[in-house]
Formats: sequence, structure tokens, C-alpha cells
Amino acid sequence: MKKMDVMLITGGAGFIGTNFIYHELSRHPGMRIVCFDKLTYAGNLGNLKQALQNPYFSFVRGDIADPDAVERLFARVRPDIVVNFAAESHVDRSIEDPGLFLRTNILGTQVLMDACRRFGVRRFHQVSTDEVYGDLPLSMPELRFTEKTPLRASSPYSASKASADLLVGAYVRTYGLNATISRCSNNYGPYQFPEKLIPLLIQNASADKPLPIYGTGCNVRDWIYVADHCQAVDLVVFNGRPGGVYNIGGDCELKNIDIARRICSALNKPDSLITFVPDRPGHDLRYAMDGSLIREELGFKPRTDFEAGLCRTIAWYRDNPGWLDRISSGEYKSGEGCL
Ligand code: NAD
Repeated sequence: MKKMDVMLITGGAGFIGTNFIYHELSRHPGMRIVCFDKLTYAGNLGNLKQALQNPYFSFVRGDIADPDAVERLFARVRPDIVVNFAAESHVDRSIEDPGLFLRTNILGTQVLMDACRRFGVRRFHQVSTDEVYGDLPLSMPELRFTEKTPLRASSPYSASKASADLLVGAYVRTYGLNATISRCSNNYGPYQFPEKLIPLLIQNASADKPLPIYGTGCNVRDWIYVADHCQAVDLVVFNGRPGGVYNIGGDCELKNIDIARRICSALNKPDSLITFVPDRPGHDLRYAMDGSLIREELGFKPRTDFEAGLCRTIAWYRDNPGWLDRISSGEYKSGEGCL
């Protein structure tokens, strides 16, 4: 009998990784999936409660930047495919503590790729971000990031992700590692930690609390529903060119202030809840992705428009109040009794 693939997903207890695990379990029944996650403040084992009932899924707690732990993991699991979502991901936290971001996001990627080389992994995929390109001016709406746009990071977070991307390219060239990179725009959807813009605004608006918006709210982001991102990553992992880099965008540019207004309107709350707060240092003005390469090579197009995606996201947070409560109380760290 042909051996089924084993896919190792790092950072799978976080927002996008959780969504990706459920996507892969339904897309590839019979494929073994192992999640490796350190369970930092952003990791929530309760997210994976349903997955843990699937005999093809298992969870291992550990740190991607710990070479011994990664060696033991690879020796036991023998992955064919590794998809690296594990990262410190919040820009504001990277301004407070850059060192942690360099350790996890750069050294962690190196440790994983070294293990991939030693164990002959067939495909390593690095989940990256549009933030590696820096930002675009607000005055030139026709400009978009392509895969050839030079890396020009603005924050310690984006610099750490850009560094990891450069390392992946170096491992492809120097060691012939079969690796791919995807760079995605801002995600939203179920399981997103409430420090990020959309869940924070939904949570505050629902409780009639102020909606904090940096500066004048004119910063523009390109939003993609998380399920669409998961579909794109799956396409790159299984069909992407070795060494390929793919931009993934949502074709949906919106100002932060407009997001806040739409959330108020969807929840029947007054715009007067919106409160401007001092801007983040080095705050990027605009991100916009040119997604033509992944469309032409792999046939990917985002399917969920913002209206529908926001509606689903609001419904998910409304229907899962316990998920937010367990985060607010810190109970989620126990991994018990969650979704
Ligand atoms: P997240 O912060 O919600 O989750 C990160 C996960 O990684 C958590 O489960 C955490 O416990 C785990 N982790 C952190 N350090 C680790 C370590 N040293 N070892 C093992 N696990 C560790 O992040 P997210 O929003 O789901 O983002 C996932 C990936 O996607 C990141 O690489 C991020 O850069 C990238 N990305 C995110 C977005 C977005 O809008 N959220 C957009 C583009 C790219």
C-alpha cells in the first residue's frame, strides 16, 4: 500500500494555522497532519479540540527555534511536507521586544529548514506576509506589490519575516531545498486573537466600548478572508514551482476607518464609538498586492467578498462568546474546555 503523506504544520494553534489545519483535514482525508506549536499567548490548543478527535491528526508542543526539540520531532514524525506558520506576528509587540521576533521568525525558520535537509523533506513552505515589501504611498493607487518588488521592511516584525524569506531563498539556491514562499495580505476570520484590528473592533463594538483607531484611520490594508488564504497556501504547497514565491491578496483595499464604520453598521452601533489614538511608530501607509502570478500559474482567486466575510466573522464571534471569554480570563492557556 502506498504510504500517505505526513504534513507537519507549525504554529497551527494560532489564527491562520488553525484554519489551515481544518482546511487540510477536509481537503486531504487520509493525510496525516501533525501540529507543532509552542503555545505562546497566541496559541490556543482549544482551537484544535475537534481536530484532536480525528485519528489522522496529532499535536506536539514545542519551539521551532529549539534544534533538539525539532530534531526529536522530525525523527518521530518523518514529515514529507512542512508548512511553517509559527511566528511572533503582532507588529506592536515587535516594537516592544524585537529580540523574540528575531529568534522565532528567523532562527526558527533556519532550524526547521536544517531539519528538512537532514530528513529529506519533500517540500518546505514558508508562510510570509505582504509587510516584507514595506508600504506604498496613498497618493499612487495604481501601485501594487509584485513578487519582484524589493524587500523594504518597516517594523521589527516585517524585518524578521523578510530575513526569513531571504534565508529560504538562500537554502533553495545553496542546498537545493525544495521550498516555496507565499506572501499574504491582512487576514480576518474565525479564531483571530482579539489584539488584531477586526476582532478587537467587533469585541469592543459589541460591548459598546470605544473602537481605537491609529492616527487618522487613513492607512489602507488589502483584506482577505482566512479560508481563501488557506486555499491559496494549499495550492502553493502541492502545485507551486520549487523555489517559487507567490503573492496572495484579497483584491479588497480598505482604510482602517472604513473597517470600523462597517463594523459599527453591521452591529447597529453608532460611529461615535470610533476613537482616534496616537499613531504607531513607523506605521505603514498602504499595502496592495498584485495577485496575477498565483492566478495565472495556479488558478487562485479569492472567493469571499468583504461583506460576506465580515458577516461570517461577526457571526462566528457572536456564536462563540466562550472563546473570547476564555482568552480574557486567561483560561485558554490550560487548553481545556474550549471549542
Ligand atoms: P498567530 O500569532 O495567531 O499564531 C502564531 C502561532 O505560532 C501561535 O499558535 C503560537 O503559539 C505559535 N508560535 C509562536 N512562536 C512559536 C515558536 N517559537 N515555536 C512554535 N510555535 C510558535 O499568527 P497568525 O496570524 O495565525 O499568522 C500565522 C503566520 O501567517 C505568521 O507567520 C504570519 O507572519 C503570517 N501572516 C499573517 C497574516 C495575518 O493577517 N494574520 C498575514 C500574512 C501573513
